[in-house]
Amino acid sequence: MLEKVLIANRGEIALRILRACKELEIQTVAVHSKADRELKHVLLADEAVCIGPASSAESYLNVPAIISAAEVTRATAIHPGYGFLAENADFADQVEKSGFIFIGPTADTIRLMGDKVSAIQAMKQAGVPTVPGSDGPLTEDTAHSLEVAQRIGYPVIIKAAAGGGGRGMRVVHSAEGLLSSIQLTQAEAAAAFGSDVVYLEKFLQTPRHVEIQVLADGQGNAIHLGDRDCSLQRRHQKVMEEAPAPAIPQDARDAVAQSCIKACIDIGYRGAGTFEFLYEGGDFYFIEMNTRVQVEHPVTEMITGVDIVQEQLRIASGLPLSLKQSEVQFRGHAFECRINAEDAKTFMPCPGMVTTFHAPGGPGVRVDSHLYDGYTVPPYYDSLIAKIISYGENRDIALARMRVALDELVVEGIHTNTPLHRDLVRDAAFKTGGVSIHYLESKLAQ
Ligand code: ADP
Repeated sequence: MLEKVLIANRGEIALRILRACKELEIQTVAVHSKADRELKHVLLADEAVCIGPASSAESYLNVPAIISAAEVTRATAIHPGYGFLAENADFADQVEKSGFIFIGPTADTIRLMGDKVSAIQAMKQAGVPTVPGSDGPLTEDTAHSLEVAQRIGYPVIIKAAAGGGGRGMRVVHSAEGLLSSIQLTQAEAAAAFGSDVVYLEKFLQTPRHVEIQVLADGQGNAIHLGDRDCSLQRRHQKVMEEAPAPAIPQDARDAVAQSCIKACIDIGYRGAGTFEFLYEGGDFYFIEMNTRVQVEHPVTEMITGVDIVQEQLRIASGLPLSLKQSEVQFRGHAFECRINAEDAKTFMPCPGMVTTFHAPGGPGVRVDSHLYDGYTVPPYYDSLIAKIISYGENRDIALARMRVALDELVVEGIHTNTPLHRDLVRDAAFKTGGVSIHYLESKLAQ
């Protein structure tokens, strides 16, 4: 097993990784910015190193500072968490070249999947269902672009190959707007992602977001841990997730999960990963793969009993997967609410001091949060401050527990989006299950 892990992240996920390391008796190194000295995991880690000022560019994205911290503390491996450098292939390269283990897939895999065009091509080859599209980047051949869009049928969506975080996408409803929209998206993509490569695919009107969690050891073994539904989104950002995805026929679920396992083996995948799909009219359409642990991984942990972060650590240390597919048991249902430091109505970030934090409890309730009384949420980073996770033998029980947990949650001193979640768990359509990715936005618009 790994001896000492440097956690190159902050907030709840850094604490989550720290806990997994401690259970496995792995030494921990926290790296943090000057604004993050009081983070819970920094206080709990075996060692802590300040790597720069508050700005992420100079701290959590500062590769030389992170590598030096690993050298100084003699860490064996680096866990990138999610966000920041987690899907940065050059960082993974640097880590390995400096003699440390990168807890994740190889840099080549990150590169392959980080480019949505090459990712879609690899998935098609492996037999994973994809969205009908341009099958490659759009070129200067405008007649060809118009022809492709015509063949697929409007509406279409133009997407940046290097896009992420819900940015770099534009929906086009008719041929008139196509060419100018392509140009606009190319310009935006160049500015935001340093690459103007864009492609085009069918815009699905009322899909659900359903994703498959996988684990692979890079030694030819891969398993799936089932699916999650993350359709409740605002501005392409997930708000609440659940596992399993409700109301999907078992054979469709099994088939798509099997195709993901095959893809993992084909591309030599190593580590935890997620295949994201849109699900519409009974069919799955691959949109992208995340080559890292995801925010919503706990719902899968709840229904399988598998500790995904510990599996990441085991795989990185060269051990084979701790279980076979036939040993994965799916049981019950789980939800996760993302609690953000933001105004519940305007969604404006709301950093500041948390005067009181009272976490909910009781059967089937898990809270992943770095908050404590007196902790100040800094204004510089993501606003996620807590994840409330509920489990039950079935969906209704899990949802009832979430309702009670949200009512128990107390965060004083700052505003949070808890009122939105309290409203959602009482929403009739959501209670039925299976709403589309547009449901939340249209509800908010009312
Ligand atoms: P990102 O990497 O920025 O998260 P994704 O490709 O995962 O981008 O897409 C993010 C979200 O955008 C999806 O969850 C979905 O809401 C919407 N989206 C992406 N592609 C399509 C499509 N072809 N049709 C409809 N909605 C889409």
